[in-house]
Amino acid sequence: MADLIDGKQISQQVIDEVASEVADFKQQYDTVPGLAVVLVGEDPASHVYVRNKVKRANEVGMKSIEHRLPADCSQQTLNRLIDDLNNDPEVHGILVQLPLPEHLNEEEVIAAIAADKDVDGFHPLNVGALACGDASLIPCTPLGCMIMLKQVCADLSGKNAVVIGRSNIVGKPMAALLMQANCTVTVVHSRTRDIEEICSRADIVVAAIGRPEFVKADWIKPGAIVIDVGINAIERDGKRKLVGDVDFAAVEPVASAITPVPGGVGPMTIACLMKNTLTAARGLMAKS
Ligand code: NAP
Repeated sequence: MADLIDGKQISQQVIDEVASEVADFKQQYDTVPGLAVVLVGEDPASHVYVRNKVKRANEVGMKSIEHRLPADCSQQTLNRLIDDLNNDPEVHGILVQLPLPEHLNEEEVIAAIAADKDVDGFHPLNVGALACGDASLIPCTPLGCMIMLKQVCADLSGKNAVVIGRSNIVGKPMAALLMQANCTVTVVHSRTRDIEEICSRADIVVAAIGRPEFVKADWIKPGAIVIDVGINAIERDGKRKLVGDVDFAAVEPVASAITPVPGGVGPMTIACLMKNTLTAARGLMAKS
């Protein structure tokens, strides 16, 4: 049986470290790190995510400011809010909860956020810095995956890693981070041929697809480490259930370590958002 990589426990370690560093930051600068969270519209999942982010920020001793805009707000209104937050010295991190309503241009919104307050790490300047191996604000989910991986394998050097999925928020930054950790990285996606065969040679598999229990046991090399980013709501036995992109019950006996869903990557994402907010606050104070 694989070891469970416990996201609740590891994320709590990250949160405790950040809380202690926030206390030092406040002493050093007489300033409270501030995170602005922007929520547009009424998407219920987004409301839950934002509530959890605000709660965590308060727990680590930061100030979190929630800004809600109606679903029909204009691009101009949203851009103006971001501009105000960019210029607000009490705001060190800005997060716009995605997805946005369809009439709004996400790329424009991401590019409007000041790169040094971009705690999601999605701004083109931060994406470029990551590609160059020189990023300080790294997308939270892949950053969380790396912290988990390092807990079960201190030296990732030379490992064969396969990332399933090539999204801007998970797959691509994950591949960049693994490459930076000296892994040999293959990224597979919906047009890839023989995914099973490619995965079956991997020492590390990171699944970020958005398809319930897609990765099967015979895709996994015995002893591989499996990180499951997927969060999929399904109905089973008449009950609503959250499952990952990996067929956990079948893969667990094959892998050496695996993240559960829920309780795996999910809690790490929020913990890394707190880490990034502190990093952004430090960067801004060092500049001022
Ligand atoms: P996304 O933007 O929809 O990207 C999905 C990726 O999977 C795409 O690159 C797509 O390939 C690939 N894909 C889809 N079907 C495939 C197939 N049949 N075979 C191989 N590849 C396939 O999704 P995302 O934002 O990266 O999120 C992925 C999953 O992670 C979702 O379940 C999401 O809810 C979850 N997630 C969790 C967290 C967390 O905190 N735990 C954070 C973010 C996302 P193409 O590019 O070719 O279309």
